[in-house]
Amino acid sequence: LGSAQELDAALAWIASQRPAMEQLLAAVVRQNSFTANRDGVNAVADALQPELARLGLSVERIHSERFGDHLHFASGAAGPPVFLIGHSDTVFPPGAYPDADAWRVDGDVAHGPGCLDMKGGLVIAIFGMAALRHAGLLERIAVRGMFVADEEVGSPESQPLLRERARGAVCALGFESGRAGDLIVTRRKGTASLVASASGVAAHAGVEPEKGRSAIWALARFVDQAQRLSAPERGLSVTVGTFTGGTSKNTVPDRARCEVDLRYLTPEDGAALFGELERIAVEAALEGTRITLERGSSRPPLVRTGASAAIAAEYGACQRAAGLGDGEAPLTGGGSDAATTAAVGVPSIDGLGARGIGFHTPNEQIELSSLVPKAEALIRFLAARAT
Ligand SMILES: [Zn+2]
Repeated sequence: LGSAQELDAALAWIASQRPAMEQLLAAVVRQNSFTANRDGVNAVADALQPELARLGLSVERIHSERFGDHLHFASGAAGPPVFLIGHSDTVFPPGAYPDADAWRVDGDVAHGPGCLDMKGGLVIAIFGMAALRHAGLLERIAVRGMFVADEEVGSPESQPLLRERARGAVCALGFESGRAGDLIVTRRKGTASLVASASGVAAHAGVEPEKGRSAIWALARFVDQAQRLSAPERGLSVTVGTFTGGTSKNTVPDRARCEVDLRYLTPEDGAALFGELERIAVEAALEGTRITLERGSSRPPLVRTGASAAIAAEYGACQRAAGLGDGEAPLTGGGSDAATTAAVGVPSIDGLGARGIGFHTPNEQIELSSLVPKAEALIRFLAARAT
């Protein structure tokens, strides 16, 4: 175990680091890193990679053709690691709003795209580890992690990497946007998307409508039944978010297409939902029409377990010791990578990043005074695992 003196040294060091934390955060927030802005996401990786390497961590940059690069890092200590989760992309395209790509500080509040989701969390994770390094503890703690580049589009590329790298970890800590009261996220809904396409037979609407087979009519029947699968009391929702079809007003439409968003509480519910939708696709099709389903990106639910509740309680105690709040957050519909690590059996908690409000909006902001205590909570949690 780390001694009390070593922990004190780490805590004394982090207490002096708020200007440095703000400086790094400002630099990475000013750098636009919308998921599709590959160069921008890579520039954020460029800024973070040396910060990680400086801590004596072995850093691997995992090149991506589709997205920015993903970063994996690991300390030299043996044994099952604590796994830290972050992402360097944001939902804000360059120039998304007038204040885009600006970092603006107003008293204790800092504004800027991605400051909450989740560049603040990246800085907290880095500085927490830096404090342990400063105290000679980091190299005695088994810690690993990934900062991925495609989280905001459902981590299609990094999910398999996360599963592979996090497997066997003692727990996973997600540094996503910090909630009011510092509540720890232990549950998230699973999310999935699918595209339903209908085909039929085109015909002139005036001359021979009876020869037509309407794809829109068939798909409308599908939509009606699909929406009815929503069961708020069970945390299930089916939302048809887009619907297109047809070519002209006076042609029986032979094509229609819709996009469907699914949310659910357990993997079993998710599988059952897909089964029901397959059944409805057959049932809703009219003679001469056909409805096919194509699955899009998906994320498993973050399921709260006894083990993850225990990690949340332990981390909560570290937060309390750092002067923060604790407790578990109410269920949220938004997915995250902590669900991916949870799905390979690693007790996973999330929402450990900077405290703020307004994520994914032009009003995204954090409380700067939460940076140091949030890093202190991580320091306390990890120091207890030093050998
Ligand atoms: Zn996020």
